[in-house]
Formats: sequence, C-alpha cells, structure tokens
Amino acid sequence: MTELNQTHDPKRRSWVASANGHSDFPIQNLPIGVFSPPGSTERRGGVAIGDMVLDLAAAAEAGLFAAAARDAAEAPAAGSLNGFFALGPEPRRALRLRLAEILDADGHDGRRAEAIAGHLLHRGADCTLHLPARVGDYTDFYVGIHHATNVGKVFRPDNPLLPNYKHVPIGYHGRASSIVPSGTAVRRPSGQTKAPDADDPTFGPCRRLDYELELGIWIGDGNDLGDPIPIAEADRHIAGFCLLNDWSARDIQGWEYQPLGPFLAKNFASTVSPWVVTPEALAPFRRAQAPRPDGDPKPLPYLWDDRDQREGALDLELEVLLLTPGLTEKGLPPHRVALSSTRYMYWTVAQLVAHHSANGCNLQPGDLFGSGTISAPEATGFGSLLESTRGGQAPIRLASGEERRFLEDGDEVILRARTPESGTAARIGFGACRGRIVAAAPQ
Ligand code: CA
Repeated sequence: MTELNQTHDPKRRSWVASANGHSDFPIQNLPIGVFSPPGSTERRGGVAIGDMVLDLAAAAEAGLFAAAARDAAEAPAAGSLNGFFALGPEPRRALRLRLAEILDADGHDGRRAEAIAGHLLHRGADCTLHLPARVGDYTDFYVGIHHATNVGKVFRPDNPLLPNYKHVPIGYHGRASSIVPSGTAVRRPSGQTKAPDADDPTFGPCRRLDYELELGIWIGDGNDLGDPIPIAEADRHIAGFCLLNDWSARDIQGWEYQPLGPFLAKNFASTVSPWVVTPEALAPFRRAQAPRPDGDPKPLPYLWDDRDQREGALDLELEVLLLTPGLTEKGLPPHRVALSSTRYMYWTVAQLVAHHSANGCNLQPGDLFGSGTISAPEATGFGSLLESTRGGQAPIRLASGEERRFLEDGDEVILRARTPESGTAARIGFGACRGRIVAAAPQ
C-alpha cells in the first residue's frame, strides 16, 4: 500500500484558489481524467484541481515534468488513460508528487506554473468530460453483503444468502460498450417481462427501472493469460476508483435471470464518474477490513493476505440523490435517498483482483470492476430502489409532493462519494456520477 507523504499534508494549499476547501478536488486529491477543452473535440489528459482542469500535455510541453512524471503526463496522449494505466504505480506516484509541487501555493515551482496558468488551466464547467479509458472488459461483483441479504430475502426469507456467498466473491461479466460518462442521458430500456399472475410475457418499456450504488475499480497494469495475480500483489494492478451506477431493469431481470443471470436488464447502460481517484489519494482512508461475524468462514488462502486485512478496506461515504421534474420545478434540492459506505464491502478490492485472475484470466489496463450495490444495514443506506421501496411497496415521498417506487422519465440520479471527516487528512471526493432517464425508444 502507499505510504503517506507530503502530498497528503492537510495544510498544503494551492494557488488555484477554488481548490482550497473544495469538497471534491483539493490539492490532496489530484484525480486524472480525459477532457475536451472549451470549443474543442480533442481529447486530452487532465487533472481536476478545485473548479479547474489542468491540461497535462500543456504542462508537459511547458517543461514542468521530467523523468517518470513526464512519462505519466504524456501517456494519456491518445485521448484515453489506457496507456497511463498500463504504466503501473511508480510513474503515477511520480506524477502525483510533481503535480502537488507545481500546484502548491508556496515555492518556486508553484510560482513558475502560476505564471503560465492561462496555458495550463480550463474552467471545469466549460470542459467536456469523457470516459477515462476504453473499457475492454467490465465485471460486476456482489460484495455488498447487506444488499445481497436484502435481495435474497425477497426470494428466500429464511436463507437469504446462498451457501457460496461467504466463500466466493460472486461476480459476472457485464457489457463494456454501454458504459457512459456522467451526464449522458439514459434511455429507458424496453424488454420482455412477465407479471407473476400473467400467462404469457409481453414486450414493452421497463416499468421497474432502478439504479445501483457501486464503487468502480479501474484496472492498471494487467497480467498475462495463465498467470494469476497473487493477492499480495493485487494493489499494484489497481489504477484508481470511480463511482458506478449499474442501472437495472427489475421487471426484465425478474423474468430473464434464470438460469444464467443478468443480461438485458443490466447491459443497456452503466454510468461512471469521469475522474479516476488514485490509490495514492485514498491512502489516508485505508482501513482494516471489518472482522467477519462469528461463524463466518475464513477466506481460502489465495484470498487471504494479512496486510490486505489490516489496510485493504476503504472508508468512503457513498450517497444517492434523486432529482425529479417536480423538485426541479419547485426549485427544491435533490432528495437524498441513501447514505452508505464502502466499509460495508464483504470483500476487499484486492480480493476481487486475486479472485478474478485466480484461474489465469488476464486483466488488462482499462478493465472496469463494479463492486456490486453497496447498501448500509439500515433502510436509510440502501443502495437501490428495490431495497429502499421494498420492491415498490413502500414509495419514497418527496418534498415536491411526488412519490417514487421506481424511476420515471425525467428523473436524475446523482451518486457522490466523499471521504469522512478526519482530524488528520484533507477530505476528498469523487465528483458526481449523474444520469437522467429519458423516454423509451418508440415501439
Ligand atoms: Ca450491479
């Protein structure tokens, strides 16, 4: 895991004024992404700093980087971060150290960069943010044990978790082509459904459209086909983190999922937040994995690493907000549907990497993992409407007078992640992961 260094110093301030006290992107964060400057369609590597985006190629051209940091700054040249991810941790760490120097309010390098700020910075609100990488493969896990229990209860009240859950990090292969960046409209899917009391299925727009609150994990340097990644080395293969909304069509899912699992209920869209928050930025927020309750099995040796158990969990507050047309019309703020935390993950991200590659499956730079829906134990922290409204039986009532059982056209779902209040580290956040539902395609 990453050691703490001067880049984590909570007292550090930037000459980019909006970074100081910024809820997501203070100088201690420095997430990487792909953006187009105002009025351009060219895709460039960038770093979020306060309300601004630092253009990495422009900073490299200005001679602000050398050696490994320069390699990292120039790697996003092709308009995606795949090459940057492939470099592995050392150049990424060198870039972070150097970025912290050139964005620092004090010191020679900061003043040198500030003098040419007009060449380096764009207002974030004026930029277009893209998917950070070409996603080769997307895998969705199921590590939120409270979500798995809540969903399992619907089908098996006495025995909600299947016998494999505490032994195997459950996952399935998702669809990469429909992963979209925050802000992309999500078209209501149509599909085949069958009501429990109906004799025959029908085809039409989804009527039980839902979101799923998930942590996204970007894979960095990969492994060769046939060569598993040992759990003790898994961290070296993780390039960073994002938010992931795994949109789900519950009525389509209920009819199609047996015997092979999710298919068209899940692959019509998955939304990610555009900034890649690095493992280095999250180093102050690593925690011990919560001890398993008495009676739970110890993971098999290939999933067990003492250091991972001591430091492999993440402490991030996760939030789901819902903005409906009624709230917007009345000038009301988004409604908070859930507040959860990555502390409720039953498996660590290192365990996911070790498990995925244990059979020799090769991971590649730009692969994306979803954690699975992360629900808190209590109803105020459920990460899907399926849980929050008990399958539509208990609607959410909004200040606008509206109620919601599932998502309606015009609704916008906003996911957020932020590190908790801490006396020793600056809080950082992920930026928003947003998507608005638009009407189904005409039949
Ligand atoms: Ca999911």
